[in-house]
Amino acid sequence: MAFIQCVGSRNPQVGHPYCCSVCCMHSTKESMLAREHYDDIESTIFYKDMRACAKGFYEYVERAKRDYGVRYINSDATVQENPDNHNPVVVFDVGGRQQSEEFDLVVLATTLVPKKETAELAKLLGIKVDEFGFLESADRILGPGRTVKPGVYLAGYAAGPADIPESVAQGSSAAAKAVEAIAQAGG
Ligand SMILES: Cc1cc2nc3c(=O)[nH]c(=O)nc-3n(C[C@H](O)[C@H](O)[C@H](O)COP(=O)(O)OP(=O)(O)OC[C@H]3O[C@@H](n4cnc5c(N)ncnc54)[C@H](O)[C@@H]3O)c2cc1C
Ligand code: SF4
Repeated sequence: MAFIQCVGSRNPQVGHPYCCSVCCMHSTKESMLAREHYDDIESTIFYKDMRACAKGFYEYVERAKRDYGVRYINSDATVQENPDNHNPVVVFDVGGRQQSEEFDLVVLATTLVPKKETAELAKLLGIKVDEFGFLESADRILGPGRTVKPGVYLAGYAAGPADIPESVAQGSSAAAKAVEAIAQAGG
């Protein structure tokens, strides 16, 4: 299997300049899980940058290489078709030299975008969305999680790309802000 990272993400030309923050780890995990289920599966991950920055993530990627035989290739990659058997052929670049390799399956780590209904929900709640359609904090730096509407707080992926630990932390923060508002109102 081949995994191609950053498909549509981190690309201002297609309107998604942001990093989706979860796909480097997600593809790593999927390739490890695939090997756990079928021990003859070999996976290659084509990546631009391996964003495995949180605690233990780098070690997880190293384990994928060491214990699961996952191969990481630092290259842009495009997909063509082998006309004889219709298998996908990944074309990539190593040290300026173009190479190609045939796979049985190619998995694209595509851009994660907000739900279509997010804008409608924001309107209903009287809050804002950002330029990409995610729910927006009133002040990203000084007041993350607070919206322009008192009593409405944000957490998780609806407010922008975040993995599970980050979403959980944001959820705890939103809950604390809600308790604070209730306490201030004498509740
Ligand atoms: C393909 C993929 C792979 C991922 N892999 C990983 C991974 O390996 N590790 C990791 O840490 N993170 C991963 N993530 C990210 C992870 O899914 C998110 O961090 C997490 O789901 C965010 O939690 P959340 O509660 O904010 O949003 P969600 O999990 O999306 O939950 C939102 C909930 O709100 C509900 N909802 C939406 N609108 C309304 C409405 N109007 N009224 C009522 N309910 C509503 C939805 O149905 C949903 O149940 C992955 C994401 C994707 C897409
Ligand atoms: S998490 Fe990795 S694959 Fe996903 S957009 Fe960011 S760098 Fe690309």
